[in-house]
Amino acid sequence: MKKIGIIRCMQTEDICPGTTDFKAVKEGNLAFEETGPGEVVGFVSCGGCPGKKVIKRAEKLVEKGAEIIAFASCMKKGNPLGFPCPHFAQIKEAAEKNLKDKVIFIDWTH
Ligand code: SF4
Repeated sequence: MKKIGIIRCMQTEDICPGTTDFKAVKEGNLAFEETGPGEVVGFVSCGGCPGKKVIKRAEKLVEKGAEIIAFASCMKKGNPLGFPCPHFAQIKEAAEKNLKDKVIFIDWTH
């Protein structure tokens, strides 16, 4: 069973508790179809715009055992508001550059 860390949009915290993210990990479907049912080891926000705290927060998730870090769909897809993160490409690039040897990133959850 893979250990999953999830990073979500801080701007979305007020309107989404992440229920579908947890369900997708538990059931091993949607973004987790290839890896199968997993265990969430941490669920954190990006820390707010423009998302520079993601690197440190991703490192913390790796410390806690994350083998995969998923960027919740509020970031790239803008769920549930249809308002994607304008910084997502830069956040993802920086995270992958800094942690590419330590963890696999996926850019959606559901
Ligand atoms: S940087 Fe992107 S993901 Fe983070 S709070 Fe701002 S809009 Fe949301």
